[in-house]
Amino acid sequence: MAKGSKMAEKIRSNVDRVRKQSKTDLKSVPPHRHCVICRSVIRIDADPPICSNPECLAKHSKNERSRKQLSVLMYIFPAIAVLLVILNVTGGGGV
Ligand SMILES: [Zn+2]
Repeated sequence: MAKGSKMAEKIRSNVDRVRKQSKTDLKSVPPHRHCVICRSVIRIDADPPICSNPECLAKHSKNERSRKQLSVLMYIFPAIAVLLVILNVTGGGGV
């Protein structure tokens, strides 16, 4: 049985080594962000989260604008729906 336990020991030490390696690999990647447009690495405190490429800046501002428009619409549509309901209750059903 001595041979078997030696083999087990070898395997265990191998597994340990691999585990330690993967841990150090994870640690070796410094904290960073990616440009939201082209995915290139940028500074972690970059704001807006884009690289220095003017094309990315243009695309980002375009995206931002359409996002703002969308959020405005998200407020306006329910407001109109509520207004219609109120008009229906107060004016339509009365006389
Ligand atoms: Zn970019």
